[in-house]
Amino acid sequence: MRLSRAFLPTLKETPAEAQIVSHRLMLRAGLIRQTAAGIYAWLPLGWRALQKVEQIVREEQDRAGAQEVLMPTMQSADLWRQSGRYDAYGPEMLRLKDRHEREMLFGPTNEEMVTDIFGQFAKSYRDLPRNLYHIQWKFRDEVRPRFGVMRGREFLMKDAYSFDLTKAGAEHSYRQMFVAYLRTFARMGLKAIPMRADTGPIGGDLSHEFIILAETGESQVFVSRKLLEKDPLAEAPDYDGDLAPIVEGWTSHYAATEEMHDAAAWEKLPEAERVSARGIEVGHIFYFGTRYSQPMGLSVQGPDGATVVPEMGSYGIGVSRLVGAIIEANHDEAGIKWPDAVAPFRAAVLNLKPGDSACDSLCGQLYASLAHDAVYDDRDERAGRKFADADLMGHPWQVIVGPKGAAAGRVELKRRMTGERHEVSPEDALGMIKG
Ligand code: ATP
Ligand code: MG
Repeated sequence: MRLSRAFLPTLKETPAEAQIVSHRLMLRAGLIRQTAAGIYAWLPLGWRALQKVEQIVREEQDRAGAQEVLMPTMQSADLWRQSGRYDAYGPEMLRLKDRHEREMLFGPTNEEMVTDIFGQFAKSYRDLPRNLYHIQWKFRDEVRPRFGVMRGREFLMKDAYSFDLTKAGAEHSYRQMFVAYLRTFARMGLKAIPMRADTGPIGGDLSHEFIILAETGESQVFVSRKLLEKDPLAEAPDYDGDLAPIVEGWTSHYAATEEMHDAAAWEKLPEAERVSARGIEVGHIFYFGTRYSQPMGLSVQGPDGATVVPEMGSYGIGVSRLVGAIIEANHDEAGIKWPDAVAPFRAAVLNLKPGDSACDSLCGQLYASLAHDAVYDDRDERAGRKFADADLMGHPWQVIVGPKGAAAGRVELKRRMTGERHEVSPEDALGMIKG
């Protein structure tokens, strides 16, 4: 993307309405624009980051054996009457009527709909187990939308739903998602800690929230340092095998939100192991048995011919919230520091003297070689503005090309995450960026 033609509306001033750093940076770097309270348009840079996050979520769901579908945002109120949640859900649900006066709603979640769809197909125990997920916009009329995309009203969620014949099967499905979540967040460069959670209005008796530590988090959390030292990507799960040892390796150490905190157990940990911090919830998984399958009339014929009501779980990830959470965890005074895996663009090529033939030609070659995964700052602007904008937008690599270097076949390569700089040949710069 050439900056001279790009739609990247960066702001010099700090927007007054933004209380936390990720919200400020997302507005300043031109990732999002608010269009109504808690509702955002995703602009080119933000949309690319959102898609990178979404793709990692998708790959890890697929790897764990879940299958992607796409259910609609609009749902019929009747479905929700069947589960008893239409009245229970309260004012967070956006309710609408179509031209025939039929009651509709903008889905805040999809337990009812997926159970209904799956129920029309599942007849026998051979149709189980199955796990279906989608990545779709949700609407919740939050009392206090705030912190930008972290607590929006319209937001993108990955929600998966598992169907099993037995409770033991459902627990296995739960563990598959548990492990997939650890990998998903680790691939984004985040340390997300699973914490035992209250099951709340969704019902059921087994639940974990995945929480990343950040000063601006909405909840207080208490975590054993041992969990912060673990690396989920080193665990190489066999999703068809026994996942209990991996899950136990996480759940055997102390980790709790304020609501679930046990002060007595906490005090027993050595002082040096105790980390109390603020946290952001990025995922939430539930096992809830027949809470929805029963009222929605889902049943199959078991191996012995008897009727079985499938055991279910649901598994959410805040895809759009993650973009904010990643920035909360990776920034400095100058701007965003994207981890490689989720950066909207891998690199920025900074032409410090557009019009200089050596600069123009070298930058043109570098940009072409990076294909579409780079921003080319070809604007007629001061070098200082280009440095500031590149730091603000946070591309993992900056290739800085000035007239002297260009004439001598040298460029400066800057790593945004660490601030390291090296003078190298253009070929070596490309090798490091692509490697
Ligand atoms: P919270 O406690 O933060 O309100 P929740 O318990 O209502 O979340 P779930 O129903 O578990 O959320 O939804 C799954 C995931 O969707 C959450 O873990 C979170 O990452 C994300 N999420 C929930 N509400 C919002 C929101 N208003 N804006 C952005 N993301 C959200
Ligand atoms: Mg929750």
